Amino acid sequence: MEKITVPFIYGDGVGPEVVGATLKIVDAALAKAYGGSKQIEWKEVLAGGKSFEQLGTWLPDETMEAFRKYHIGLKGPLTTPVGGGIRSLNVALRQTLDLYVCLRPVRWFRGVATPVLHPERVNMTVFRENTEDIYAGIEWEPGTEEAERFGKFLLGDMGVKKVRFPDTAAYGVKVISKEGTERLVRAACRYALDRGLPSVTLVHKGNIMKFTEGGFKKWGYELAQKEFGDALSSGRLVIKDCICDAFLQNALLKPEDYSVIATPNLNGDYVSDMLAAQVGGIGIAPGANINFDTRDAIFEATHGTAPDIAGKNIVNPCSNLLSAVMLLEFVGWNEAGERITAALEKAFASGRATADLARLMPSGTALSTTDFTDLIISLL
Ligand code: NAD
Repeated sequence: MEKITVPFIYGDGVGPEVVGATLKIVDAALAKAYGGSKQIEWKEVLAGGKSFEQLGTWLPDETMEAFRKYHIGLKGPLTTPVGGGIRSLNVALRQTLDLYVCLRPVRWFRGVATPVLHPERVNMTVFRENTEDIYAGIEWEPGTEEAERFGKFLLGDMGVKKVRFPDTAAYGVKVISKEGTERLVRAACRYALDRGLPSVTLVHKGNIMKFTEGGFKKWGYELAQKEFGDALSSGRLVIKDCICDAFLQNALLKPEDYSVIATPNLNGDYVSDMLAAQVGGIGIAPGANINFDTRDAIFEATHGTAPDIAGKNIVNPCSNLLSAVMLLEFVGWNEAGERITAALEKAFASGRATADLARLMPSGTALSTTDFTDLIISLL
């Protein structure tokens, strides 16, 4: 019997409902697929509001240690503490474990209502860089000593002339490195080749930001040529690029042109949510944060804590559930994951879903979170 331990965080707001549903469905899928020969031992670890209430800390050391020890984890959404302390728990987790890829696969499920005419043409996987760019959070508030010093350095030592209103300016620093770009693009190319996907598109804004976003494009192409030259020349893989604003338009007009997307952090933020909206919204968009070198990975719902619907038994658990499907694929237990995906396909095709999706279906039936969970288990 094979058993792996997966630390998990219930999370805040709707977190316990979506994670609870996920654990039940995954356990049932494993039992169906492997008859007990492959199992997950779920180990709860604390973070967020529950942790703060019980331990007085938002992110205990034991939680980080568990993720380091087991290299894998599942998490529900966490409230961002307001007013000091940790800037964002999610960012802290990603940076501490150096989870440099935010992986967001985007596909459509038949039956799910969407704002586009041909959602079936959307089938992309976004590799969003997770540790650099403006999300590194290097910025200073106007009026602080740091902002003033930074302003003086820019205007004085660096001879910058383009700060229009220096006395009231906030400053932020955008960092994009060759190494950071290379490891992201390498992971994206390997992912595409492993799955027989046709292309990797570098989405950037290098026409304006020549050295950061432009560097991303240049280093990405160079890396692909150096390490995947054979696949490129044999046509097994195509590497191309697109300026981000054009990409947002093209992804709506001709999504079939794109497969794997590699992009810096801020572009990736916009791109991931727009693509998710094209196939039915963040309620069913899964995600993972992964370091493809150490194989540390945390799989998580992409939506927030949805406090407006917490505790009402109506939340859609699919984002977290599909993230768990990614986890199963990551550890090579594909059959269990495929059973869950197939069960979701059947449920949606028959118009059965939680209210957020069912109300947009032509003859949808809205199920509670727990009834939907039971339905998926019955369809496994
Ligand atoms: P949200 O995603 O929690 O909610 C936005 C809207 O979408 C709400 O109306 C909500 O009811 C609805 N919604 C979200 N997920 C849903 C689901 N699974 N099923 C049905 N409806 C769903 O975003 P927000 O309101 O901006 O953020 C609330 C809190 O969550 C904030 O503290 C924020 O910092 C945090 N947050 C955490 C994460 C994370 O942990 N990864 C991500 C985003 C936001």
